[in-house]
Amino acid sequence: MPETPEQLYERVAHALRMPPVDDWDTFPFDGVMHPRQLQPPVLNDPLREGEGGVECEPCAAPDDDFLWTNERWRLRAAEPNGLPVVVLLETREHYAEPGDLPEGLASELGVLIARIERAVRSVEDIGRVHVCRWGDGSEHLHWWFMARPARIPQLLGSFAAIWDDILPPTPGNVWRANLEKVVRELSR
Ligand SMILES: [Zn+2]
Repeated sequence: MPETPEQLYERVAHALRMPPVDDWDTFPFDGVMHPRQLQPPVLNDPLREGEGGVECEPCAAPDDDFLWTNERWRLRAAEPNGLPVVVLLETREHYAEPGDLPEGLASELGVLIARIERAVRSVEDIGRVHVCRWGDGSEHLHWWFMARPARIPQLLGSFAAIWDDILPPTPGNVWRANLEKVVRELSR
């Protein structure tokens, strides 16, 4: 039987572990650390932005807000941040979970993930493009493409998403040129 959140909380709340972050070359922080105290379960998960398509920003956004669109998908740029390229792929219609997609859209998603990854990777000095889906913030289905710089080993792996907020924002002219390259590659 799966554990309820209450059972899980009872079991773990006073047994949290501190992983060996000093040994992790990609861990972005230094100094003495301890896990934050775990808060008990709540009655329901918090509502996400745009729940049920109501007051949903991606649903309402005009095509002009996007880098690239077709009849069913739209690609937007994140705000400039530490990583050299961060773009998000969204469905045009409101879907919440990957498993909610009709099979036709799900098939297209696979092709698009490959095309967008290739387009982002075409930007010079990109080491890897991380393709991510979290989905606890905004309900409208979206996939992250986060490019990490090449040849800086500390930026490898999943902490790249944290380094994005630690590195100062990419200069505007560099950011725009990188996005233009992505769009050029996608339009080929
Ligand atoms: Zn929506």
